[in-house]
Amino acid sequence: MVGFGYDSHILAVGRPLFLGGIEIESDFGTIAHSDGDVVLHALCDALLGASGLGDIGELFPDSDSKYKGADSKLFVEQILKLLEIRNLYIINVDITILLEKPKLENSKVKIRQSISEQVKIPIENVNIKAKTNEGMGFIGRQEGIAAYCICEIQQKA
Ligand code: MG
Repeated sequence: MVGFGYDSHILAVGRPLFLGGIEIESDFGTIAHSDGDVVLHALCDALLGASGLGDIGELFPDSDSKYKGADSKLFVEQILKLLEIRNLYIINVDITILLEKPKLENSKVKIRQSISEQVKIPIENVNIKAKTNEGMGFIGRQEGIAAYCICEIQQKA
């Protein structure tokens, strides 16, 4: 089964920027109820999509104070447990990050490694792509960041 996820967050000066569970050196970071990790949020929704389990907002509502400032790695961990219970395993994950600044060339490997460890699949099966929006729209104006994720999962025989 294939799943698709998308997430975006507002960027502001002086906030931390977490991508894929890694803190990235940046003048801008996300404003969010949790740690605002768009990569992990898109990943969570892709996994939930592939397994027919709804969306991240249903599982971890931002109206719930226990998720305030939450480490998004915990969301991934809990979703992985839901997959394991259902005998579902992840084949691959492919992520695209849209961000004007900073350039993520040097961070992509770290993000890949981090996601590979979190979802327990080989690093070759985790792909990270990063691109700017060439100055257009909310990404281009550095008002926000977005991420897309697609994944394949399979049921164990
Ligand atoms: Mg989010």
